Amino acid sequence: MNIPAPCCATCGSHAVVKSGHNSSGTQQYLCKACGAHRVLVAKSPATDPERKTMVLRAVEVERLGLRAAERVFGVTRQTIARWLEKKPKLSRR
Ligand SMILES: [Zn+2]
Repeated sequence: MNIPAPCCATCGSHAVVKSGHNSSGTQQYLCKACGAHRVLVAKSPATDPERKTMVLRAVEVERLGLRAAERVFGVTRQTIARWLEKKPKLSRR
């Protein structure tokens, strides 16, 4: 079995060691190169900017309801509503 070597999400270094867990129980890593202390891959799809753009486009352009978007994309409607308040309107083209 080939397990990919973990690398730092901040600087890309492979000099990372396991360093406890965060409040939700996810493994955290300490980067020996830059000193970052965090999870390697964020669990939430809400942190993926490409996915965020896709969700906002579905809600604004395709007129998908917030509850429907919540079911389809797995992002809570409160989060989507917050994005809509902060983000300028997308063009329809
Ligand atoms: Zn690093």
